[in-house]
Amino acid sequence: MPEQPRLEIDAVSRRFDGRDVVAGVSLGVAPGQVTCLLGPSGCGKSTTLRIVAGVDRQDTGRILVDGKVVSDASRHIPPEHRGIGLMFQDFALFPHLSVAANVAFGLAGGLRANRSRVVDLLERVDLVDFLDAYPHQLSGGEQQRVALARALAPRPAIMLMDEPFSGLDNRLRDDIRDRTLALLKEERTAVLLVTHEPDEAMRMADEIALMRRGRIVQRGAPYHIYNNPVDRAAAGFFSDINIVRGISRGALTETPFGQFLTPGHADGAAVEIVIRPQHLRIDFDRQGRGPNPTPSEGVAARGIVERARFMGRESLVEFRMEQDGTMLKATVPAVFLPKPGTPLWLTLRRDRCFVFPA
Ligand code: ADP
Ligand code: MG
Repeated sequence: MPEQPRLEIDAVSRRFDGRDVVAGVSLGVAPGQVTCLLGPSGCGKSTTLRIVAGVDRQDTGRILVDGKVVSDASRHIPPEHRGIGLMFQDFALFPHLSVAANVAFGLAGGLRANRSRVVDLLERVDLVDFLDAYPHQLSGGEQQRVALARALAPRPAIMLMDEPFSGLDNRLRDDIRDRTLALLKEERTAVLLVTHEPDEAMRMADEIALMRRGRIVQRGAPYHIYNNPVDRAAAGFFSDINIVRGISRGALTETPFGQFLTPGHADGAAVEIVIRPQHLRIDFDRQGRGPNPTPSEGVAARGIVERARFMGRESLVEFRMEQDGTMLKATVPAVFLPKPGTPLWLTLRRDRCFVFPA
């Protein structure tokens, strides 16, 4: 039996100025689970989080913690009584308090009564040598780890995090994400993390809830959601995409890459075949194989390189299809950097194509 969710958001909606900013959002987060609310800026993520925290109130819907209602039309338990920890991008530490005193701040009895818990947490974020230091003596990443220890000190059953890593530089961020994740898992905290960065969500989440204009459009494990997007926008949120257009006739769509099965699309309906740049295959020379189809790869189509950019591990090659002038992109290992004008053959990895109505 699945574990009872620690946090449940049940059909929550919120309007501002006559606009549905959050529109019927439902989600559950189990102990030890990280759910990422992922979506573009302005889609209603922070508003949802603020409602869960209790600093804002929904117009309709309920918030439950361990099966008990903490907020609905008649009840509204204040934030400090919800057993919820908060971590935001601008996590201000108290500048006049030592690291240890910062971590002990929310604990009854302060540092004196909780020294072992404080030391334990600071050991786990690798900052025990800084117990007596002051915030201004720490780097941004170290301060962030103190903020995490402070948020976890009262053992919140639920942690709400709003873009907590976006103020950190890239290389530091990966390390802090990993440490944070490990600590949250050890504490079996139910985590709702808001981010607009798909890479962060894929790295952190057990489950991603993809949000758009106040609604959750898709939920699932990162692998699932990346490989089975519900629509073109969901596919395009995670990476660049290519679109090959066609018209479905008799459940088949003709393209420069051969026929695609498009069952469920009406005769004459415009369809889009969507594929990520890493799933195109480039051949500079088909060694006599020509464009003939093999069952797995379909038809090879001719393209001409327009631009190629070196990006470190890989190159991004943009090319124009000979047949209809469509522009497509492929990523290839960076050992290839073809010159503009180079002709090439392209095939699509058919198992990685998504078909959507246009
Ligand atoms: P996100 O965190 O996904 O970027 P927010 O939840 O912060 O988005 O905001 C969603 C929308 O709601 C935005 O258009 C924002 O301007 C609007 N909004 C948020 N809070 C308020 C408020 N208190 N009053 C009016 N509009 C608000
Ligand atoms: Mg926000």
